[in-house]
Amino acid sequence: MADPLPPGSTIGILGGGQLGRMLAQAAAKLGLRACVMAPERDSPAFDVAAAHICADYDDEGALRRLAEEADVVTFEFENVTARALEVLESATRVAPPRRALEITQDRIAEKSFVDGLGLATAPWAPVSGRAALRQALERLAGMGEHGPFFLKMARQGYDGKGQMRLAGADDLGEAADWLGERAAVLEGAVAFEIELSMVAVRAADGQMAFYDPPHNTHRSGVLHESLVPASIPASVVEQAQDHARSIAEALDYVGVIAVEMFLEGSGEGFRLSINEIAPRVHNSGHWTIEACTVSQFENHIRAVAGWPLGSTRRHSDARMVNLLGRDVDAAFTLIAENPARSLHLYGKREARPGRKMGHFVEILPRKEC
Ligand code: AMP
Repeated sequence: MADPLPPGSTIGILGGGQLGRMLAQAAAKLGLRACVMAPERDSPAFDVAAAHICADYDDEGALRRLAEEADVVTFEFENVTARALEVLESATRVAPPRRALEITQDRIAEKSFVDGLGLATAPWAPVSGRAALRQALERLAGMGEHGPFFLKMARQGYDGKGQMRLAGADDLGEAADWLGERAAVLEGAVAFEIELSMVAVRAADGQMAFYDPPHNTHRSGVLHESLVPASIPASVVEQAQDHARSIAEALDYVGVIAVEMFLEGSGEGFRLSINEIAPRVHNSGHWTIEACTVSQFENHIRAVAGWPLGSTRRHSDARMVNLLGRDVDAAFTLIAENPARSLHLYGKREARPGRKMGHFVEILPRKEC
C-alpha cells in the first residue's frame, strides 16, 4: 500500500464538470492542490482548481504533463480510454483502478461482471448490432420477458442518453434503425417499487464505509431527486451494502463507488437488482455535503490520497433536487422560499435543455418518533 500523500500534494482530476468541481473543492479543504484536465475551455472545475490543463483526453503530451504534476490521478467520469490510463499509470498513481473503469464503461462487461459475482440484474442479453436484435429478444422471451424492454448502447451512454425503450417486439424495426451496428444490451423492464443507490467508499487497506441509500427519482432517465432516508427496511440497506462490498472487493477498488439498484417488492420478500455501477462520486450522493459528517467528495479525496476515511454518518434528513436547463432561472425563488435549502450552481454559462446547471439540498425537519 502506498504511503499517504502529504498535505500540499496534487490530486489530478480527469474531467472538468460539476463532479470535478466538487472534488477540487474537497481537495482544497484538505490542503491538497487539484489539477483538472478537461477539453472544454469553460469547464466548471477550472474555476476552483489550483491548476488546469485544457486538452483532449487522448492528448498524450497533456496526459504526461498531468501525470508529472499529480501525485495521484483520479476521474470524475468513466469514459476514459485504456490508452489514456496506460499513459497515466506509467508515470503516477491512479485510483480507482483501471479495471474498474474498463468494466463499467461497457455495459456488456459490467453486466457479465455482476452476473459473475452472483448478484441480480434486470434480465438481459448482449446485442452486437442490429442483426442480433431479434435473437436477443428471443433470448429474453425465453426468460419470460415479453416487453417492455430497454435497449442501451454498450458504451458512452449516460443520464438516460444512448438508450431506447421498446414496448415489445413490434418496435424491433425502429430499434434496429436506432442501433445500427453499435453494440448494446437489451434488458427486460424491471417493475421496481423504488430506485436506490448505494454510495460507498473503500480505502487502499480495504476498509469500507457506506452512506445511507437515497430513494432516487428520475425524469426522462435523468436523476431528479434523491431523498434520505428512503422508506426501506434495514434488511434492504444491509443487502445493498453487501452488494457494494462484493463489487468493490472484486475490483480491489480505491475511492468512492456508486451502485444504482432497483428494489422490487416490499417487506421481506424483496429483490434488489443492480442497474449500473459508477466508479466515481455520484449525483445521488450530493446531499452528503450538507447532511453527513464527511461528504462523498472529501472521502473520495481521502481514499485516493491514502488518508484515513471519515465518518459517513448522516446527521440530517435531506433531499437533493437537480436544476436542469432553465430550472436554474428559479434558483433565487427556490432559496428565498425555504432557507433550509443549500444552493450549488456549477458556473455553466449556457442553460441547454436537460443540462445539469446546479442543485439544492434541503435539510428536512426531523420527524417526531
Ligand atoms: P440507466 O442509464 O441505465 O441508469 O437508466 C436510466 C433510468 O432508466 C433508470 O434510472 C431507470 O429509471 C430507467 N431504467 C433503466 N433500465 C431499466 C430497466 N431495465 N427497467 C426499468 N427501468 C429502467
